[in-house]
Amino acid sequence: MTDFNDIKGRKPLKEQLSKLIAKGRISHGYIFEGPSGSGKKLIADAFSELLFCSNPDKLNPCGICEGCTGYKEKYILQSDKAITVEDIRNLTADTQLMPIHNRRKIYIIHDADTMTDQAQNAFLKTLEEPPSYAYFILTVTNSEQMIDTIRSRSIIIYTGVNSKQEVLEYLEEKHPDSDMQYIYSAACFSEGCIGRADTLISDETFKQTRIAAIGYLSEIKTDLTEKDIKTDITVFLEVLQSIFRDTVIYKETGQTVNLINTDISDIIKRTAAKNSSKSLLNAYNSVMKAAEYIKDNVSASIAVGTMNMELMEELNI
Ligand SMILES: [Zn+2]
Repeated sequence: MTDFNDIKGRKPLKEQLSKLIAKGRISHGYIFEGPSGSGKKLIADAFSELLFCSNPDKLNPCGICEGCTGYKEKYILQSDKAITVEDIRNLTADTQLMPIHNRRKIYIIHDADTMTDQAQNAFLKTLEEPPSYAYFILTVTNSEQMIDTIRSRSIIIYTGVNSKQEVLEYLEEKHPDSDMQYIYSAACFSEGCIGRADTLISDETFKQTRIAAIGYLSEIKTDLTEKDIKTDITVFLEVLQSIFRDTVIYKETGQTVNLINTDISDIIKRTAAKNSSKSLLNAYNSVMKAAEYIKDNVSASIAVGTMNMELMEELNI
């Protein structure tokens, strides 16, 4: 059980939800949309607690009504793979059973945007005519993946992300023994997603890969191969891309505040000073192209080799 006091930051989201609850008009369908690792599950859970309560005060359930104290029937659908029509049929069968101990039953479907088309159509039927006691909370990374008829019957709420400062505070508290440098880079690279930062900080591969990518930029080798990278190529390219993104931004604005990799702002400033905007943009595009090649199953050696040649030609390091 989560409540909103456990969720850091997110002032705009909390204000929006407070208003929604204060109006007292409760919808049967909610879609919480936000990037992966941004805490949608916690938010969905905290919100479900509010839906059980018959007298919430802003975002706090009263704690004494029958809804709060009675047994809460929460049906959580979560799958590692796509959500199938069978999953939805099982859920729908459950909606036919009235709640015994509570006035409402809450159905939470995580990663609902992985529902197959057939599953979405089956779910739509339930959402169109839900039993009066059934409420549905969906979490998605991209609501565009949902059919319009589900979207239009739901309240779509963008959950947003945390500020870099909030992620830093969270990591410092949760990982007091970690090196500040890793805390900082995980916070920078998390894009405001605490869950992502949490994974990154414990991920040795990420640490090594980031060091490798930063090292690469200091000394672009003539014959970089897949073997030289020795780490996860996708992450390597992602880090490299973020550094070039930062360099382009710094070149244009002269500001470091919006950079992802603020801990290496000296390298970013130096690279920006030595190269034209056009070269930096071309470098960024070369890295992006290599990442796309790898996604399209082009051999990593060819993708990285081509990128390396282009960067060597383009950049003064
Ligand atoms: Zn209550």
